[in-house]
Amino acid sequence: FTEEQQTEDYLFKIVLIGDSSVGKSNLLARFARNEFYPNSKSTIGVEFQTQKMDIDGKEVKAQIWDTAGQERFRAVTSAYYRGAVGALIVYDISRRQTFESIGRWLNELHSHSDMNVVTILLGNKSDLKDAREVPTTEGKALAEAQNLFFMETSALDSTNVNAAFQTVVKEIYNILS
Ligand code: GDP
Ligand code: MG
Repeated sequence: FTEEQQTEDYLFKIVLIGDSSVGKSNLLARFARNEFYPNSKSTIGVEFQTQKMDIDGKEVKAQIWDTAGQERFRAVTSAYYRGAVGALIVYDISRRQTFESIGRWLNELHSHSDMNVVTILLGNKSDLKDAREVPTTEGKALAEAQNLFFMETSALDSTNVNAAFQTVVKEIYNILS
C-alpha cells in the first residue's frame, strides 16, 4: 500500500444537546457550512452532518448530530445518544434558565451513553454582551466541577465555533488513537 491508502478512517459521533433556541443548529451551520440563520426555525435541523477535519495531520470525520427540535418536548431519544463519543452541551449566556438546565442535560447524557464521552460546555451567544445573564466565571466553575471543557461561543460572529469542535474531536482522537 501507498501511505495514502494506509490512512485509517476515523468517524466520531458527536451530539449537540441543550435547551431549545440556545443556538445548537446555528453552531453546526456555522461550523459545517459557515452559515448563520438570523431567524431559524427548529425544523431546519438535519439529522446529522459529517465534517472532515484535520487533527495533527490526520483526516478524521466528525459526524455531528442535531436534535431537529425534539428537545422542546424534553425527550431526546436514546437512538440520538447511541454510539456518541463526544457531546457539546449548549446554553445561552443571555438566558439563565438555559444554564440551569445543564444538570438535567448532563444526567440525560450520562444515562444514555458512556461516562467517558468527551464533553464541552458551551455558553453561546457571547455577542449579546448587554443581555448577559450568566457570567463567564459561573460557566467556567460549573465546567470545572463537572470535569468538562468550557468555551463561550457565538454562532453569529463565529467566535470559538471552530475551536469548540476542534477541542472535542482532538481529545477524542487523543483518547482513541
Ligand atoms: P437551537 O434550537 O438550539 O437549534 O437554536 P437555533 O440555532 O435554531 O437558534 C435559535 C435562535 O438564536 C435563532 O434565531 C438564531 O439566529 C439565534 N442564535 C443562534 N446562535 C446565536 C448567537 O451566537 N448569537 C445570537 N445573537 N443569536 C444566535
Ligand atoms: Mg435546532
